[in-house]
Amino acid sequence: MKSSVFNDELLTFLSESPTQFHAVQNMTELLKKAGYQSLEEADEWQVRNGGRYYVVRNGSSLVAFNLASKEAAATQGVRMMGAHTDSPCLKVKPNPELFQKGYFQLGVEVYGGVLLNPWFDRDLSLAGRVTFQDKSGTLSSALVNFIKPVAMIPSLAIHLDRDVNNNRSVNAQRDLPPILMQVNGDEMINMRAILCEQLKSEYPSVDVAKILDYELALYDTQPAALVGLQQEFIASARLDNLLSCFIGLKALLSSDATQNALLVCNDHEEVGSLSAEGAQGPFLLSVLERLWPDPEFRTRVLRKSFMLSMDNAHGVHPNFADRHDGNHGPVLNQGPVIKINSNQRYATNSESSSLFRWLCEKVAVPCQSFVVRSDMACGSTIGPITAGGIGVTTIDVGVPQFAMHSIRELAGSRDAFALYQVATALCDCERVIV
Ligand code: ZN
Repeated sequence: MKSSVFNDELLTFLSESPTQFHAVQNMTELLKKAGYQSLEEADEWQVRNGGRYYVVRNGSSLVAFNLASKEAAATQGVRMMGAHTDSPCLKVKPNPELFQKGYFQLGVEVYGGVLLNPWFDRDLSLAGRVTFQDKSGTLSSALVNFIKPVAMIPSLAIHLDRDVNNNRSVNAQRDLPPILMQVNGDEMINMRAILCEQLKSEYPSVDVAKILDYELALYDTQPAALVGLQQEFIASARLDNLLSCFIGLKALLSSDATQNALLVCNDHEEVGSLSAEGAQGPFLLSVLERLWPDPEFRTRVLRKSFMLSMDNAHGVHPNFADRHDGNHGPVLNQGPVIKINSNQRYATNSESSSLFRWLCEKVAVPCQSFVVRSDMACGSTIGPITAGGIGVTTIDVGVPQFAMHSIRELAGSRDAFALYQVATALCDCERVIV
């Protein structure tokens, strides 16, 4: 695969996946196209050697895998890749309707560690999952996406806040409700009625009787794009961490299927991963238990396995270079970053990082390393949680980026393809334990 084709597909995936639900739906479409079979957790499974399968939980987490053979599992383990499907954002509250000064606005809840200032003055739309009752009384869920800009959070003019450039802070309750429309004095608008209309327009054949509940997020309608005089950057929302989901998916699809390989993409990383479908929940383990039910055999498989946990890293920002350790400042477009933290905020150890360096050399991709400044707190990701949950040797890596958790993030346009090459090499590698 050429890097320009990879990047084109990545930009489309980012733009068409405004929520974790849409990301999982788009990933399952690509898996289906490649011949992967869907497995339902509630059904009995009949899996066979050479088969390719995927399982979805809650519409927001996914496990997809290639089964080489039981013998390969026992002697060579499973090549695992992990990423997360969720991104920090503003979610619509359950009773969101606000009417102030003739404007209809929505109450919003902050999901995860949102960088709030960049959400102002953007052309916002709404997307998510809606659960409804149809005319026969049956409950169903469907995804909705308004696509066009329907909301905005306008800034306060500088003339009304002269100190804004020195000390602007954002009060999430007061400052964030977006404006959706103007209303007459006694006109009452209802979010569920709006959603009912939206659902009917997206699914004309569905007999919607009543919207019960929803998980809706605001998102920026500006599509993902290449930026820079030489197009050396990718600008988009949700680079953290849909970029890694896409890398893992493409690597799994490109692998030669001589090894057992698996991709897990979990929801709820941005809020600590503790949920039925999060990395702290039992989703991945329950899939592994069904593939290899005998505990002793499964332990043997896991001892031979390796997890590549992918989540973006902080590139050293030229205007704020002192926020990085002088010897560990990853640069955009200089390759994937190995993330190391002795206090186990990252699961990397010297053997897992050595294996990653060895794979990078094999495919002629440079790599970098990141350690947080000794006087600053370190972030974390699904790597240590998964390693702690199933006992697999793990490395935390990621593409370096700027503006993590902003509504518009920036990464290098060569790094995603580079990490994809390394991940594919991992999937096809015969031996993954030092
Ligand atoms: Zn992340």
